[in-house]
Amino acid sequence: MKRHIYSCGYLLLAILSLLVQSVSSQPTVERDLLEAIQKIKAVDNHAHVLPARSPDSTEEERSDPLGKTPFEYPVRLRVTNPEYLQAWRVLYGYRHHDMTADHAREGLKAKLRLMKEKGTNYPSWVLDQAGIDIILVNTPSLGPGQNAPRFRWVPLADGFLFPFASEEERIKWFRKQVGLDSLPTGLTEYMDTIRKRLDQWKKAGAVAIKFAIAYVRSLDFAQVSDEEANRVFEHYRQDGKVSANEQKTLQDFLFRFMAREAGREGLVVHIHTGIGAEPYFNISGSNPMLLETMFNDPTLRQTNFVIVHGGWPFEREAGVMLIKPNVYADFSAQTFLRSTEALSGVLRGWLEWYPEKILFGTDSYPDDTPLANWEEKLWLATRTSREALALALTQMMKAGEITRQRAEELAGMVLRDNAAKLYGLGKH
Ligand SMILES: [Zn+2]
Repeated sequence: MKRHIYSCGYLLLAILSLLVQSVSSQPTVERDLLEAIQKIKAVDNHAHVLPARSPDSTEEERSDPLGKTPFEYPVRLRVTNPEYLQAWRVLYGYRHHDMTADHAREGLKAKLRLMKEKGTNYPSWVLDQAGIDIILVNTPSLGPGQNAPRFRWVPLADGFLFPFASEEERIKWFRKQVGLDSLPTGLTEYMDTIRKRLDQWKKAGAVAIKFAIAYVRSLDFAQVSDEEANRVFEHYRQDGKVSANEQKTLQDFLFRFMAREAGREGLVVHIHTGIGAEPYFNISGSNPMLLETMFNDPTLRQTNFVIVHGGWPFEREAGVMLIKPNVYADFSAQTFLRSTEALSGVLRGWLEWYPEKILFGTDSYPDDTPLANWEEKLWLATRTSREALALALTQMMKAGEITRQRAEELAGMVLRDNAAKLYGLGKH
């Protein structure tokens, strides 16, 4: 009898919860799963967070406390995105419900005060607020307050794809990052320089190298023989110039060479894919599908690759590449470009395919927008990721694809364990 009453109770509860779900237009998330996900100390696979610094006394008095983005950003990244209010509330104790200049300035003052108070501990404090344990920082070098084991270095390697001086600003900048200033005497010597640098980077604590080459050319890196690469190199040494095709040939060769050597050093190779941070970036040349012949190269099987930003808007193409044992994808940048619901769709597709290969990442980066800067982006992107993950996993549970226990396990893998395994973290 008692048993019967209980089951009636359960039935009633089930009907009630169904009713609640059907009247609510919001997609529902299993509450306790979300709570469990919020407690996971994450590993951020890709970000450009800044070191600690002492703020200038004039900073808080700026007439435009919200600042300006370098071009008209997509909606969620705009400084007026009301979601930032919540970030300010949590991070700086912001009490207003609007962004008027006076109120925002008050928020900025609170932020700069905190920055001063925390000193070199500020970068770690920001990570704590977002529940991030370890972050991979893609930067020329780590700075004050960015120390291992929490801050891990990912240097930019593109400069080595350009052994010859160039007038193009971006190429000049890339070359400067790796300290290239003179013409190498020959390809063999140049390859040796690269090998040594990779070794130095590894010894200095780097866990991966990053290529942002999609900002300069498309990602189709053909297989090129040593002879062909040597011929281009010698042509340049004789004539002081080579054709665009020859430049591509040499870059193709050097890219695969670096990927191979990085693998030998135990450095993971990060490749920017999908949209870029400027309106006239060549999106179609940044499709991860273009990397397939390189992923299939039998001489690169010792190298682990990460498709950074998960290729968006080519997230399906990025996802399908996860079938290759040495290919991973992070969903950085999608975390602030896309809505929580849209991101959950991407995650569900990937989770149903190769969940062991998915990495959380924010792509948090600085701008001249004091209250929509790396800190706020980091906080917001992490929250979006946790919610999107909870939503995708709830839907998979409802569809009978996974158990509640597996849902939590998958969340742990995506937010932390997959990265820990890939980079050998957590052994400190
Ligand atoms: Zn980035």
